Amino acid sequence: MDDRTYASALERLETAIEHADIHPELIERLKKPKAILTVSIPVRMDDGSLRVFEGSRIHHSDLLGPGKGGLRYHPDLDLEEMRKLAFWMTCKCAVLDLPYGGAKGGVAVDPKQLSPSELERLSRGFIARIADFIGPETDIPAPDVYTNARIMGWMMDEYSKVVRHRCPAVITGKPLSLGGSHGRDTATGRGGYICVKELERLHDWNPEEKTVAIHGFGNAGQAIARLLHQDGYRIVAVSDSRGGIHKESGFDVPSIIHHKNHNRELAAVYCEKSVCEAVEARNIGNDELLALDVDILVPAALSGAVTGDNAGDVRAKTIVEIANGPLTTEADAILDEKGVTIVPDILASAGGVTVSYFEWVQNRSGDVWSEEHVNQRLEERMREQFRLVRETAEKHGVPMRTGAYILAMQRLGAAVEAMGTSHFFNENRS
Ligand code: GLU
Repeated sequence: MDDRTYASALERLETAIEHADIHPELIERLKKPKAILTVSIPVRMDDGSLRVFEGSRIHHSDLLGPGKGGLRYHPDLDLEEMRKLAFWMTCKCAVLDLPYGGAKGGVAVDPKQLSPSELERLSRGFIARIADFIGPETDIPAPDVYTNARIMGWMMDEYSKVVRHRCPAVITGKPLSLGGSHGRDTATGRGGYICVKELERLHDWNPEEKTVAIHGFGNAGQAIARLLHQDGYRIVAVSDSRGGIHKESGFDVPSIIHHKNHNRELAAVYCEKSVCEAVEARNIGNDELLALDVDILVPAALSGAVTGDNAGDVRAKTIVEIANGPLTTEADAILDEKGVTIVPDILASAGGVTVSYFEWVQNRSGDVWSEEHVNQRLEERMREQFRLVRETAEKHGVPMRTGAYILAMQRLGAAVEAMGTSHFFNENRS
């Protein structure tokens, strides 16, 4: 089956049903997203011309609470993929036991082609058009691929204008000065890092002996690289959309990040303050990075990076998925067969939405938490849910991914049961 489809994502539920007692009514409910809104957004470009962009927002489920999920800007964005991403958000929020349903959205655009003021007009125009569809009690967007805190700030400001009162809780991942939370910008990477630390504890790993390859060096990839490097893990390869670099003795991660963010290119460098010099390393392609003989592979780019075609080449012993859906179902089966430990995306990439939840809680209570407090709460929640996913997987004799889906389905199923399933209505008929 084509892995870009929504139906392919639902296949994971079928696997969960085979192993656990999940009410069929839940599956029926999850098969169809709750609502989809598509809008056109006319934007006046800097040269005076008009361009009309298309954007959408999908509410997948509100069984456990208001919709939650990112807004992405990407030229290849299509509704089918967004439905899949919204479904994953429903599962991700349920795995982390957050009081949220799932949602996702975005605009089909290459943001790199727009000037900053065109980007601002597009972002404000989009939010004004979906304003009736979102809200702090209905659906709370956040950053995703190629969107960031500044864009969230514009969107919060625009929404506040529409509803005529300041409303920070409508969107998360905002700049600190506009009601954002400490720790949100690095939360997705930190969540993945906490998963690695759990594996380290379980298997008594010595970080210095462990090599790591990171596929995708945006916000999440950089954050996990920095944290693992600080703990002594050897980051031997990183890549972005243009290719990667490999050095068996490991990179000085802060130098690579500094150079990438200042010069917009990935290069093997070592920096003393802002003076960088090249270090010896091999240039590699993305496929080569995915096939490196490393202990831990961290896919941190787009979905579908590892497919049935290249999964056979993967030599990593552990995969920690901090991207959404980096492995296709076919790849997953091949890697399970090989005995690779996979910490699934709906757990490993959930640090971002968890700190989004903390941001929403702070916005609604008027409280401001310190970075230390945020990180501590994130660690507690991720560790607890990691433990429950593992226990569920062990109990049913399945990989962690299926364990995570079973846990999510049990939580969603409890909400369906609470409202009454066919059992209740048949038994109580007068
Ligand atoms: N876009 C992120 C994700 O895919 C974060 C969503 C959020 O914070 O609501 O998990």
